[in-house]
Amino acid sequence: MTRFIDVQDLARLVNRKGLATCVKEMADYIRQDYLRWHEFEKCARLANHSPDGVIELMPISDTSRYTFKYVNGHPINTRNGLPTVMAFGVLADVATGTPLLLSEMTLTTAIRTAATSALAARYLAREDSRSMALIGNGSQSEFQVIAFNTLLGIDEVRLYDIDPSASAKLVANLAGRPGLKLIIASSVAEAVKGADIVTTVTADKAYATILTPEMIEPGMHLNAVGGDCPGKTELHRDIVERARVIVEYEPQSRVEGEIQQMPADSPVTEFWQVLAGQAPGREDRAQVTLFDSVGFALEDYSALRYVMDAAQALGIGEDIELVPALANPKDLYHLLQPRTFTSCALLHAREAMA
Ligand code: NAD
Repeated sequence: MTRFIDVQDLARLVNRKGLATCVKEMADYIRQDYLRWHEFEKCARLANHSPDGVIELMPISDTSRYTFKYVNGHPINTRNGLPTVMAFGVLADVATGTPLLLSEMTLTTAIRTAATSALAARYLAREDSRSMALIGNGSQSEFQVIAFNTLLGIDEVRLYDIDPSASAKLVANLAGRPGLKLIIASSVAEAVKGADIVTTVTADKAYATILTPEMIEPGMHLNAVGGDCPGKTELHRDIVERARVIVEYEPQSRVEGEIQQMPADSPVTEFWQVLAGQAPGREDRAQVTLFDSVGFALEDYSALRYVMDAAQALGIGEDIELVPALANPKDLYHLLQPRTFTSCALLHAREAMA
C-alpha cells in the first residue's frame, strides 16, 4: 500500500509538531542528504514552458529511494485565485519501484525552501546577523521568516511587496510571535538599507531587477529565491558578478538561476562543497555572499523522507491502493473480473458496517 498525505494531513502534521520544529528537523534532513551528494543520481529538472508559466518534474535517487516532485510556477495565477506554486511528490522503493508515499508538496515546498535558505545562510551570512529584508511577501514569505528566526535568530524583518495587502497578510499571520519585529517598508531600498540579510522571493516571469548595485552594502548575505526559471531573475547582473556565489546544482542553476546572466564559466561553488568543508562559505566580514537558490530535487527527496517518517510516527495519512496488490503478479486482468468488483464491494460494505 502507498501512504497518501493530502494538504489537510500535512497541515495537521505541521501543527502537531510546530512549524519551527518542522523547519529545524527538515533542515537537518537536507543537510544529511547534501553530505551524501555523491550517492545520488542527479539531473537538472525537466521543464515544460508556456507563455505564463512552467511545469517541472524533479527526479532524483540514491540506491534505496527514488523521489520526484511535480511543481508549477505561474506568477499570473494569483490574479485568478490560484497559488503561483502548487506541487505534489512521490517517494518510491528503488529495489522494486513500488511507490511508498504520495504526498502534497505545496506546503512542503515552502517549508523545504525556507529550511534550505536558512541552512545556507548559516554558512554564508555573518554570524552576528540579526536583521533581514524580505522582498516579496506572498506564499513563501512567512516560512522564510520563521526559518531565519529559528535557525539564525533573525529577530527584525523589514518587509516590502508591490502589493501592500501581501505585507499586511504576513504581519497579521505572524502577529504575536515573541521576539520578532516586523516592519513594513515603503520601498525595496528602504527595506534593504542596513539589513544583514536580504531575501528576494518575488514572482514575475521576467528579467526583473529587484535589487540594484547601490542597495548592496559590504557584508550582506543575499538569499535570492524567486528567480528560478530561464528568463526569470531578480538581481542586477553587477551584483551577481561581484558576489561570492553559492548554487545548489550547477548544471540546473546555469539555466535557471541568477547566474544565467553570467558567462558559462563564471565562478560558482556548489552548496554541498561548503557543507562538507571542501570550500569556504563566507570568506570575510565584508564579502557579499549570494545563495542563488532555484530549488533542487535533493531538497525534495529530504522533504519527502521527512514527511514519511513524521507521518508514520504520528499516524497521519491513509494507505491507498495506488498500484495493484495482486495474488498472481502476472494476472493484472484478474482485477477486471466482475467477481473481483463484487468481492471488493462486499469487503468495503462489511468494513463500513463494522
Ligand atoms: P506568490 O505569488 O505567492 O508571492 C510573490 C509575491 O511577490 C507577491 O506578493 C507579489 O506581489 C510580489 N512581487 C512581485 N513582483 C514584485 C516586485 N517587483 N517587488 C516586490 N514584490 C513583488 O509566490 P510565492 O509562492 O511566494 O513564490 C515566490 C517566488 O519564489 C516564485 O517566483 C517562485 O517560483 C519562487 N520559488 C522558488 C523556490 C526555490 O526553491 N528557489 C521555491 C518556491 C518558490
